[in-house]
Amino acid sequence: MYDVKSLKAEEFIDHQEVLDSLEYAEQNKNNEQLISALIEKAKLRKGLSHREASVLLACEIEEKNQEIYDLAEQIKKDFYGNRIVIFAPLYLSNYCVNGCVYCPYHLKNKHIARKKLTQEEIVREVTALQDMGHKRLAIESGEDPKMNPIEYILESINTIYSIKHKNGAIRRVNVNIAATTVENYRKLHEAGIGTYILFQETYHKESYEKLHPTGPKHNYAYHTGAMDRAMEGGIDDVGLGVLFGLELYKYEFAALLMHAEHLEAVHGVGPHTISVPRIKRADDIDPDVFDNGIDDDTFAKICACIRVAVPYTGMIISTRESQSVREKVLRLGVSQISGGSRTSVGGYYEPEPEGEDSAQFEVSDRRTLDEVVLWLMEKGYIPSFCTACYREGRTGDRFMSLCKSGQIQNCCHPNALMTLKEYLEDYASPRTKEVGNKLIQAELANIPRERTREIAIANLEAIEHGKRDFRF
Ligand code: SAM
Repeated sequence: MYDVKSLKAEEFIDHQEVLDSLEYAEQNKNNEQLISALIEKAKLRKGLSHREASVLLACEIEEKNQEIYDLAEQIKKDFYGNRIVIFAPLYLSNYCVNGCVYCPYHLKNKHIARKKLTQEEIVREVTALQDMGHKRLAIESGEDPKMNPIEYILESINTIYSIKHKNGAIRRVNVNIAATTVENYRKLHEAGIGTYILFQETYHKESYEKLHPTGPKHNYAYHTGAMDRAMEGGIDDVGLGVLFGLELYKYEFAALLMHAEHLEAVHGVGPHTISVPRIKRADDIDPDVFDNGIDDDTFAKICACIRVAVPYTGMIISTRESQSVREKVLRLGVSQISGGSRTSVGGYYEPEPEGEDSAQFEVSDRRTLDEVVLWLMEKGYIPSFCTACYREGRTGDRFMSLCKSGQIQNCCHPNALMTLKEYLEDYASPRTKEVGNKLIQAELANIPRERTREIAIANLEAIEHGKRDFRF
């Protein structure tokens, strides 16, 4: 029985409720009146339920689809302006005891190079990342209680925060590690992490069990309940995601929104972010064996429908996607992207030697961070290295109330400009610096409050004279 407030995975992601929602969407995919009413409702910026959003995802009326795209674009502009937050993944260890059939880290893969960074190697990796200009990382690790225990993850987080190379600093560490206990989530929270991210991979229980045949990750209920335990452990910024390609995308979409509704109903705050990874080629993995791959247009539609269904939730896209796909979905709602990423363990300090492969998947966007920054600006975006919110205690519902009060433009906007300025001063190529400085000058006019604008201008000048780390 579907119960949004239940703490049982099979009840808040009730299989029958997902099927009924898909059936309802299918029946109404050409119901112009209903679709128009749902678009009007979405215009109120209060979101849509999983059932309502599923109708929009299924919609086959060309004109209405265009309205959905236009609305996604408008909501994106209203809540996120033209800022795009930049991050990089950092792979700590690819030792893993699970049997995930789509992932090259699976236990039975004997030809992948197994690596785990020592603390000294982390210093080298993070120094290389700081020298690129990164301020925000997402750490990634396989699941292996002996090789990668929570103590190793905590020590690594501590090391990462302690490194200060030249003007560099990692100011926010997001964590993508396997589902764990409330006690361990509490420890992660105390270590000062930003968002705890865990992809559900698929919400379809039967498929989930087949795709994760062995290892602790096989337990669907434990995996699906991870965000409840994370929140109980004090982490109030959590990031959801599914790995598109494993199951039918309409099923995943409805269930993903049911998960978001569940978090809101139980904890009073929805997910901070939603990631939209698609399965990729990797060592030992051929994505074509999975039947549910989605084309770029369907992918864009999913992004647009997520944007209108959960307007306050950030959306993340990685270098799994090519430049052209990223360009398309940035407009439709994506608010965070990675840049200059390496998905191998130790890949930032030193490229892997020929024949040695520890990577998790093939990267489609291989540009450097500087190239990504310049590209974003040339497309009219402000690349933001801001990490202010969680450092100011604006997490969970406090972040949401900042969004809802419309104060983002007086807060996130100047923060984006100041952190971009730091990047330009410390790391940018001459061309990027020139384009960036012009952009900052033009964008200052878009800070509504005069006093805030004056402070931002003074801070930008101070950054030119060597000062760092200002924030509203
Ligand atoms: N091991 C952790 C866990 O169990 O959730 C998380 C870290 S894992 C390094 C990060 C994510 O990479 C996985 O959750 C999965 O969705 C994704 N991934 C695995 N194999 C992939 C592939 N072949 N293509 C694209 N993404 C993949």
